[in-house]
Amino acid sequence: MDYVIPPQDRALFKRCRRAWDLGARTRRNYEPTDDPRGIDVDRAVHDALAVYYFPGMWDWQPTIVLPLAREAFDRSIREQRKDSAPEREEDGLVEGARRLLESYFAWAPTVDRFAPIRVETDVDVQVPDPHAAGRDLVAPEGGAVRYRDRVDLLVIDEGGAYWAVDHRIVTGDWTDADQLLLDEGCLAWCWAWELSYPGMRIAGTIYNELRLDAAPTDHPPGPAPITARSPVSQHRRMYEPPTEAPHRPPGGPRLRQEATEAFRRTQIVRNDAELEEFGTRVALEALDMTDAELPLYPNPSPDNCARCEYRPPCIAMNERTDPDAILATSYRVRPPEPIEEGRLGGSTWSMGRGAAPPRFNRDDRDR
Ligand code: SF4
Repeated sequence: MDYVIPPQDRALFKRCRRAWDLGARTRRNYEPTDDPRGIDVDRAVHDALAVYYFPGMWDWQPTIVLPLAREAFDRSIREQRKDSAPEREEDGLVEGARRLLESYFAWAPTVDRFAPIRVETDVDVQVPDPHAAGRDLVAPEGGAVRYRDRVDLLVIDEGGAYWAVDHRIVTGDWTDADQLLLDEGCLAWCWAWELSYPGMRIAGTIYNELRLDAAPTDHPPGPAPITARSPVSQHRRMYEPPTEAPHRPPGGPRLRQEATEAFRRTQIVRNDAELEEFGTRVALEALDMTDAELPLYPNPSPDNCARCEYRPPCIAMNERTDPDAILATSYRVRPPEPIEEGRLGGSTWSMGRGAAPPRFNRDDRDR
């Protein structure tokens, strides 16, 4: 049986082994039962941007694309409201995100000097063995050790270099530049993509930050100015053929930024050493995760514990009392991940160049 590492489980493992043991899908897989979900505007903005950057519509008129992107946002909010607790919906959050998107649609064409290749695409790779070149790690039960993630956006720039783009919905101050250089989320996409497509080189990462608390208050929802979306036209091929020559742009600054009050674009060139180092880290962590003798000590800290969903059973364990009663009454084992039929960007969905994105459910088809 394969051992699959999603980014959430890896983050939990690095934060606290006890929390990882309780919550990771490959471990006890508990989630709290009393966790009414609020509206996730981050998800809704991502859904809208997946349509905005859908490769097959890149050269379409904004008058056609923008209503589809807005509808993707609204559909996402509608779907989430079916499962969310009304009291968890924060006043103005959805409207603020909607205004932010409208403003983004006007700003993005001034900085998008690329064409999209793939949106919301899953990557699933076997983790190479750091101690044996040319081999992959093997799980204790004999299957593969896999890293599985979903890439927001892959683009190609004017010079033919590929970049992984991370849409980030943030509040407050911009992320520190050092934190972006240290970020592993988007770096993982570059590493996994190059493993998936040998010979294809990803030049680096682009952080596309949208500040929710800087959403304009006087920008009513409505059409953004009509403009060409990028000087780079739709890329007609899925990929450039693999080449020995790296696509990483030579010279020039490693980090480039351009920003307004509400949006910031940070482009960081990643080199081979960074990707190799990242791959080694993932592999060493995977060896620990699959070690049956791994000590599962807790790692309490104000930052770790403040956002932890497993504080009650953790406190019980610290007191050497049995946490099972708490786990039985306040937690449940997560159900399997639902299959997302016809998901935009999903591998079963043809690139359909020139085709509109799919509709997501029967209700939409009937409207
Ligand atoms: S409460 Fe803190 S120490 Fe306990 S499992 Fe959570 S993060 Fe770890």
